[in-house]
Formats: sequence, C-alpha cells, structure tokens
Amino acid sequence: MARYGFDTQLVHGTRVYDDPANPVNPPVYTASTFAFPTADSSPQWDYARSGNPTRQFVETQIARLETAGLDEDAVADVRSFAFASGLAAIHAILSTFAPGDVIVADKTVYGGTYSQLQDHFTRWGIVVRLVDFDDVDGVERAVAGTGEFAGADGADGAVAKAVYFEALTNPLLALHDVAAVSEIAHRHGAISIVDNTFLTPYLLRPLEFGADVVLHSATKYLGGHSNVIAGLATVRGKDLADRVYFAQNRLGGILSPRDCEVLRTGIQTLALRLDRQSASAEIVARTLADDDRVKTVNYPSLAEAGSPTAEAARTLGVTAFGGVLSFEVADGIDPLAVLDGLHLFTRAVSLGAVESLAEYPARMTHFEIPKPQRLEFGITDELLRLSVGIENVDDLLADLRQALDAAAK
Ligand SMILES: *Cc1c(COP(=O)(O)O)cnc(C)c1O
Repeated sequence: MARYGFDTQLVHGTRVYDDPANPVNPPVYTASTFAFPTADSSPQWDYARSGNPTRQFVETQIARLETAGLDEDAVADVRSFAFASGLAAIHAILSTFAPGDVIVADKTVYGGTYSQLQDHFTRWGIVVRLVDFDDVDGVERAVAGTGEFAGADGADGAVAKAVYFEALTNPLLALHDVAAVSEIAHRHGAISIVDNTFLTPYLLRPLEFGADVVLHSATKYLGGHSNVIAGLATVRGKDLADRVYFAQNRLGGILSPRDCEVLRTGIQTLALRLDRQSASAEIVARTLADDDRVKTVNYPSLAEAGSPTAEAARTLGVTAFGGVLSFEVADGIDPLAVLDGLHLFTRAVSLGAVESLAEYPARMTHFEIPKPQRLEFGITDELLRLSVGIENVDDLLADLRQALDAAAK
C-alpha cells in the first residue's frame, strides 16, 4: 500500500473492514458478540474482547504510525494493541515476563509504573534493578549483572531480560538515548521497552532506534482532549506479539469501541496540536528562563550543550519536544502561591491536552516518592510543572506573569 506522509496517515488510518454504508469515518461497532454465518465457520470476529473492527482500526493505525520510517518488511513484523489505560498496556507487557526475570528500569519512571513494578510485579518474582538512564555505563552494568549488580538482589548477577525507560522523562524532561540503551540491551540478549508518552510517534519513533516495545499513555497527547483514559503497546516480532495478544485477551484490559473512537479522532489532529504545543512551550520556557523570579527551567531545547539530553536529541534527531516543561521558582517565591494565582492554566495533573494545565509535583504527582529520594531525583519543593495547550501563547505568558507578580509581592 502507498506510504502517505505522517500527517496524512493521522487523518485517514487504514481501512480494516468495508462497511456497506460507505461512511467517511470507520463506524463504532459496539456489539459484544458477532454472528457465526454457519455452525462450522470461524469468523474474523466472534467476541469483542478478543477483537472487533473498531479496535482493530486504531491498533492498525498506531502500528503504521510507529513504523512510518521503516521498510515494509519491518512493518509486517510489528503489531499494536489498545488497552483501557496506559497502566493496563504496561501491565500486559510486563506480564510476559516470568519469576526470576530481571528488569532494569529507570529510577524516574512514572509513579504508577514504579509502583506496578515494585508493589505488584516483585510479588510475582520479577527482579527490578533501578538505575539512572542518563548513565549508560550504569545501565550496562545493571543489564549484565556486573559491578554493584553482581550477585545483588538475590538474582546472582543474572543478565537482565529487559530494560524499561521513558524516552522523555517527567517532570524533569531528560531525553534518553534510545539507540544507545537498546544497543546495550540487545548485546546482552535483553529487549528494550520504551514509554514514549511524552513525545508520541510524531516527534520520535523508538522502533527506528532499536526499541522492541513502545508504550503510550494515550490519555495524554494521542487522545489530546482530557476526555479518555487509554493505553497503547506496539511490539516487534511475532513471538512477543503473540504473548501480548494473550495478555490483552486473557487479562482483558481492552479499550472499549467507544473509547477507541474518541482516541481515533484525537489522533487525527495530533500533528497540528503538537506543532502548536511545542512552539508555545518553547516560548514559555525561554520567557521563564529570562525571569528573575525563576531559578531553573527544564525543557530539552534549553539543555546545556554536551549534556545527555542535548546529545540524545542530536543522536535521535528530535527537534521539537511537546508541551510539557517544568521550572523552579527563585528563593523567596512560594510555588503554591504561583500555582494558586493562575487563572488560565488549570491546576490539574495529567498533560498533553488542548487546555493548559499546571501542577506541583511534590504534592500532586510525585508525593509517593519518599522526600530524600524525590530531592535526589531533582524534584524539589520549588518545582512546578506546566503542560502547555493550544491557547494563544500571549494569554498564557500573561497568566504566568501575573501569577509570578502576585506571588512576589
Ligand atoms: C500517565 C502516564 C502513564 C499511565 O497512563 P494511564 O493512562 O494514566 O494509565 C504511564 N506513563 C507515563 C509517562 C504517563 O505520563
């Protein structure tokens, strides 16, 4: 089939079923069960948990988007799955491992992921090694089970089965080198699992850099309107795909047909939204960096030359970074007063939607991390996180300015 431009594929997707009414949009098939034409037939769809045309449309579309830069042979080897939440997608992927398997994860992964690994999967015998993924030598020792990981955590220095990390992290916006980490994983026979929620396939396609699994909380940018909770997993290789399909069908955390439709319409405008959000976030980040009531700003385009983030951006060719940024207020400014002073930004967790949001990580998204550890990660008591939406950027700047003015009084 013809390979259209990425933004064209966002709008059209790939037809998976010919409805006789010829609708412009793929219909929402809400049926829980499908008729067998004859008693001995095996129809493509029988029961909607196992599969249905509405979910298949979205799954086929995301697989095409994740593989937009790969050749057709590689595309044929890739399959996507839609889940009821990002954490359900992550659960399905992690459920493919067995007791005793070692997973090397980045220290600063999303709190829900961290808790799923530490509070759920360790009870099922998974061994989790936490490291800083800015330090690729440390990742290598953790994967190989050498250095400080030799004989550690009761795993006898076992070689890891997987690495797990976020390409762009929350809330400090560190960009990780997907290519270097995936190369290390493969050299030791492990797979590379990347949560790409913060960039989406529009800004980075990890499969092109060696990742074996790409995860999304589609609740964020892919849905884009704060109106659906959804997750996506895309995997390379038939064997892994079969195991993930088993998890989707047998653990049952599927995305409903109605939510598939909400996600599909969100995906159609992804490029338009992210272009605007990235451009506005860049302006907001630079404006805050010049404000003397602000101590530090975290946004990848502002990262110091030679830093791991700047180097990863160069290696991966990422030039736009989405709508999320964070900043620390200067001494003497109360971050909660700034947050409470905002009128246009809504005080809320989550990110990536059309409306701008602001939150205080220490209390709203990262409060579960013990304070000493949180401070060690750089998530200080002065840090605020913004998710820049698609509003007029001058309105957003004015809102931030007046909130900083009020807090500085
Ligand atoms: C929100 C989020 C998740 C969890 O997704 P849900 O859709 O809330 O279950 C996972 N990873 C990242 C990076 C997220 O931001």
